[in-house]
Amino acid sequence: MAERMLQFVRLPQMPPEKRDAATRRSDFGEIYREFAADAAAAQASRCSQCGVPFCSVHCPLHNNIPDWLKLTAEGRLEEAYEVSSATNTFPEICGRICPQDRLCEGNCVIEKGFESVTIGAVEKYITDTAWERGWVRPPKPRRELPWSVGIIGAGPAGLAAAERLRTRGYQVDVYDRYDRVGGLMIYGIPNFKLEKEVVLRRWRQFEEGGIRFHLNCAVGKDVTLAELRARHDAVFIATGVYRARDIACPGVGLEGIVPALDYLTAANRHNLGDPVPEFESGALDARGRQVVVIGGGDTAMDCVRTAVRQGARSVTCLYRRDRANMPGSMREVANAEEEGVTFTWLAAPEAFLGDGRVSGVRATRMHLGLPDATGRQQVAPIPGSGFTIPCDLAIKALGFDPEDVPAMFGEPALAVTRWGTLKVDHRTMMTELPGVFAGGDIVRGASLVVWAIRDGRDAADRIDAYVRAKAAPAAMAAE
Ligand code: FAD
Ligand code: SF4
Ligand code: SF4
Repeated sequence: MAERMLQFVRLPQMPPEKRDAATRRSDFGEIYREFAADAAAAQASRCSQCGVPFCSVHCPLHNNIPDWLKLTAEGRLEEAYEVSSATNTFPEICGRICPQDRLCEGNCVIEKGFESVTIGAVEKYITDTAWERGWVRPPKPRRELPWSVGIIGAGPAGLAAAERLRTRGYQVDVYDRYDRVGGLMIYGIPNFKLEKEVVLRRWRQFEEGGIRFHLNCAVGKDVTLAELRARHDAVFIATGVYRARDIACPGVGLEGIVPALDYLTAANRHNLGDPVPEFESGALDARGRQVVVIGGGDTAMDCVRTAVRQGARSVTCLYRRDRANMPGSMREVANAEEEGVTFTWLAAPEAFLGDGRVSGVRATRMHLGLPDATGRQQVAPIPGSGFTIPCDLAIKALGFDPEDVPAMFGEPALAVTRWGTLKVDHRTMMTELPGVFAGGDIVRGASLVVWAIRDGRDAADRIDAYVRAKAAPAAMAAE
């Protein structure tokens, strides 16, 4: 091992090549090229095989990272895939879109002095290779079980639970109000981070494995939660968070001021070939526009980079804190800068100007003050520092809150927290309704795909335990 691994002292970090900014501005393809086999093996060999791997500790799925890095370095890719897929339902997706700088790679111990192992890129390489070589198979139950589970929401949390339950033999029905499977992975996250075929091929395999999808089916409207509870032995709610936070300032009602998710969904649907009247009319298309995106998270980064690709005349990101205090991934900020986005740090909108349609954003400079109880530095406006940015498309990317799920489902007994997220017992993941479980963003608040996968997998285990415990007395009575 010593010879093959620990190469970080000799080999520099070499992530997969990025397409140059000028080319990637003109299309929606992913920006990273694939690793060549020898490059992936060489990069994997930089791992020092830590006794206590902090990379795994800080991966929400506790992936066995050193093991699959070693197997990759040795060219044993099929085994690497077996190990990697044992803990992660979508390793190729996490390899693409996890903020690795905050998770596994940010905690790689060779990071200090040497650059971290390129864990995400190797994870993506392993599973992309597994797809190419036909190693990725539909979920295959060893035997069919008589129990069924209803899952509300076909995002990563719902899908991870569905796959795990189906593999164990459960009859699984997934209900989603959208017309495609994937949740925010299909309609939120843009193609240049996650090409849609990567999600769609999983959907096809899940169907092949016997998971039944009921699309265009909004629970609370087309079917009630009470009906699903009667139909299934357990229900898992994984409906995500979709209520966009708004800005309260003069002019916010002008035409041309749009919520981020409306804008991104229209772009994704258009790229998928769907007719999108709001895109075709120009209302949600940035072509030729002077775009201002308000916010500093990953959604804001996705909006600015989408606007660049649509051919916007100019794209500015307005954020009230500075670069160091931005919630978005630094990697995405750097990508946006390379692609020509202007960042205006420490500035917040005061008013939208215009007559009918927005023509400018009046902004004020902000000052970073002392940290509050949460440790975050407070921001305050600097008097008399106002300035105007020309703008004919303003995109609000200020985060998301949960919809009112008890009202949506007509179930007042579903308890919520003071943030509106669903309240669950954290040991069982069960809501206050017996047999109804919940996970993903609807419990955590807006979070990450990898955490949703973790919740889906954990929920499947809890549901399995619950259904078996409930069935045990009946089975005993029948004996
Ligand atoms: P979702 O993915 O939101 O899925 C919920 C599903 O439930 C949806 O399909 C919805 O249609 C369905 N649903 C809702 N209500 C009902 C109902 N009443 N009946 C039936 N179905 C219903 N995370 C990352 O890790 N990396 C990133 O780069 C990243 N980028 C992001 C970019 C954007 C623009 C956004 C908005 C989020 C991003 N995230 C990213 C966050 C990530 O997408 C979410 O944390 C994750 O998708 C949450 O998974 P989920 O399964 O809980 O919910
Ligand atoms: Fe890193 Fe995400 Fe993969 Fe975990 S799932 S190893 S955090 S890229
Ligand atoms: Fe390898 Fe870095 Fe993980 Fe250590 S922390 S096992 S060096 S990837």
